Amino acid sequence: MRITLATHNEHKLSEFARLMPDYELVALPDRCDAPAEDGDSFAANALIKARAGASISAGPTIADDSGICVESLAGAPGIMSARWAGEQCDDAANLRMLIDRTQPGDRLEYVCAIAYCDPQSGAEKVVEASCVGRRAAAPRGSGGFGYDPAFEPLELPGRTIAELSSAEKDRISHRGNAVRALDDWLRGR
Ligand code: IMP
Repeated sequence: MRITLATHNEHKLSEFARLMPDYELVALPDRCDAPAEDGDSFAANALIKARAGASISAGPTIADDSGICVESLAGAPGIMSARWAGEQCDDAANLRMLIDRTQPGDRLEYVCAIAYCDPQSGAEKVVEASCVGRRAAAPRGSGGFGYDPAFEPLELPGRTIAELSSAEKDRISHRGNAVRALDDWLRGR
């Protein structure tokens, strides 16, 4: 099955390519503008992106919206995870915010919502999954992206996600869990 992936995030593209080997994943053209992500939840933003992508691809399209929720900060930065340190910030600045605003051991949760839209049948589906962990004493590791160097997953304790192999991250990650839920739904239709 051919599915368009509505993202310009290279890290997400390569994770989806690894996680969905049975699908023919195609990226949206680079020149497509990203829609305003003005929803109030991961699911709402994923749907905004998938619908916008589907209006361009005219075929089955998926998009994800994801982020990190810190328990001691009442769930922040949540849907603001990509822009926590400012509109034009990068992953390194966001990671510094996490280190500055939290303590080692604080409970963290990665959340990923994936929306699927098929403009021909009108089918829409949103799945959501998470990965729970603790804030590391200090950032470690060079794999993954974003907040991964500070995130020690409960399922594989003692290492940050940036110290895991790609296969290990895929097995426990919020994106891996959400893709598996989407795959179950697609196969059950
Ligand atoms: P989005 O592109 O609006 O969904 O923003 C997602 C943001 O959440 C990214 O820019 C990262 O800061 C963070 N994020 C989401 N998934 C991950 C992950 O797997 N590892 C590290 N950071 C992530």
